Amino acid sequence: MKITRTQTKVIHIGGIPIGGGHPIVVQSMTSTDTRDITATVAQIHALEQAGCEIIRVAVPDAEAANAIRDIKKSIHIPLVADIHFDHRLAIEAVKNGADKLRINPGNIGSDNRVRQVAEAAKAAEIPIRVGVNGGSLEKSLLQKYGGPTAEALAESALKNVSQLEKHGFTNIVVSVKTSSVPLLIDAHRILMEKIPYPLHIGLTEAGTPYKGAIRSAAGLGALLSMGIGDTVRVSLSGDPTAEIPAAREILAAMGLRPYGPRVIACPTCGRTTTDVAAIAARVEARVAHIKKPITIAVMGCEVNGPGEAREADIGIAGGRNKVGLLFKKGEIVAKLSDSELEDALVAACAEIS
Ligand code: SF4
Repeated sequence: MKITRTQTKVIHIGGIPIGGGHPIVVQSMTSTDTRDITATVAQIHALEQAGCEIIRVAVPDAEAANAIRDIKKSIHIPLVADIHFDHRLAIEAVKNGADKLRINPGNIGSDNRVRQVAEAAKAAEIPIRVGVNGGSLEKSLLQKYGGPTAEALAESALKNVSQLEKHGFTNIVVSVKTSSVPLLIDAHRILMEKIPYPLHIGLTEAGTPYKGAIRSAAGLGALLSMGIGDTVRVSLSGDPTAEIPAAREILAAMGLRPYGPRVIACPTCGRTTTDVAAIAARVEARVAHIKKPITIAVMGCEVNGPGEAREADIGIAGGRNKVGLLFKKGEIVAKLSDSELEDALVAACAEIS
């Protein structure tokens, strides 16, 4: 199945274009106190190193809004200022060089305050993300729909978008987040036809790294398969650097953005003659520097391994009497002792990359 991405308006965040078929961008959010510039810059550097392409920081007060200026001087990716309730913080964040604002116009206050934020962003030529969250929906919508339903989430997003449009502001990105995968999918089904803007997608409160990554894969995978999503965040509790490989893995698995080698490994069975899990983990680490998107297989037996991993560019399979196989596209190219297999595989990966 080839995914046909929804064509949206193109929006620029710093130097990065999103929407309109541009590559889907991986975002994260710092967990440091934004006022602690040293700690925040250090965390952003770690995230950059991991492959994060846009970073969001919380701006709870004026000191945090001012810190943006210094943080920006030391980082290399666009910065999004996340603002709730206080329109003055949004305006300060713009003055201090934020590349995008994330607000929920519903909690910024009067229409006049929303207008002031829109005017500041327009003058600085930066976009605003309308970020609707299941946990902070307007009371009127909760009453109308009896809770944070898909219809309520979509209506909140549409209402907030039209509030910005009313002020002549169309440099918009939209996100609708909830911690429920079915709700997330339903809300986007309603929304996708109704707005021309790029969508930032993700679950909120996805959870601890293992379960959160699985829930995110389920939710984002479903949306991405529908052609929805121009930037993604996998929200996980704890160190945000763990979010980046998870997001990349989801995009790579969906065939939407290749990120270097993909190591596949068989689940092992009664025919297994090698320690597949350990070898696959070591190979993954040893080829991590390769940029080319190649598929590498680590298979447990010579009987089915080469055939089952025919899609792999290169692979190994354990064999009987400690003699295994090196194969390319399912064809055996060498018979080697078990102790030579891993090194031969890594060397062959270097050759074809
Ligand atoms: Fe079992 Fe061989 Fe298939 Fe691995 S490749 S699951 S060892 S049959």
